[in-house]
Amino acid sequence: MHTMGKTFIVSGPSGVGKSTVLHALFEGRDDLYFSVSATTRTPREGERDGVDYHFIHADRFRNMIAEDAFLEYAEYVGNFYGTPMRLVDEAMEQGKDVLLDIEIQGAMQVCAKRPETVRIFIAPPSWKELERRLTARGTDSPEKVQKRLLRAQVELEMARDYDYFVVNDTVENAVNELRAIMCAEHCKPAERIDSVLNSK
Ligand code: 5GP
Repeated sequence: MHTMGKTFIVSGPSGVGKSTVLHALFEGRDDLYFSVSATTRTPREGERDGVDYHFIHADRFRNMIAEDAFLEYAEYVGNFYGTPMRLVDEAMEQGKDVLLDIEIQGAMQVCAKRPETVRIFIAPPSWKELERRLTARGTDSPEKVQKRLLRAQVELEMARDYDYFVVNDTVENAVNELRAIMCAEHCKPAERIDSVLNSK
């Protein structure tokens, strides 16, 4: 058991199936906290305000930047996305592990501020499969799909700097790998040694 939660960043190209994997990971786990981001993009069908994202207007987003309310924020394919800081910190203080589903620029900002953050990249099993998943989703125009693919190429090249690389071939495999990573991160000596030494 740990007293302070850890922050895990989960990045991966859009269309890789991150939300499906994360939903499965969170099932029945009230020791985990999913950081709900704020975004200026319009909701997709089925997305709920306050659950998937806080869907906010660009003016409100700018105000939050000015108030220093974001742990990080970035522009991604024409929209803004940001992590509200307060709830992340509260969850960690309660001993919960926090998951941030954020892209690479945001991940770099978080790690600059908090180097102990663990970065996990979720990749598709192949490039063809990513193209197929993005097109099959049917929510973006062909032009937007191309933009997302270009962005995915850049992200995959930058993923070498991440701590872990999970391939989403099946949701079950990806979830098992995520669980194993999170468990291993809590078995580091720095996490545990003091509680044993202080129990003398
Ligand atoms: P989508 O529009 O497909 O939901 O998300 C697009 C990208 O934005 C994804 O790569 C997702 O991880 C990223 N994203 C979502 N929320 C945030 C956030 O708060 N900050 C940053 N930097 N990226 C985010």
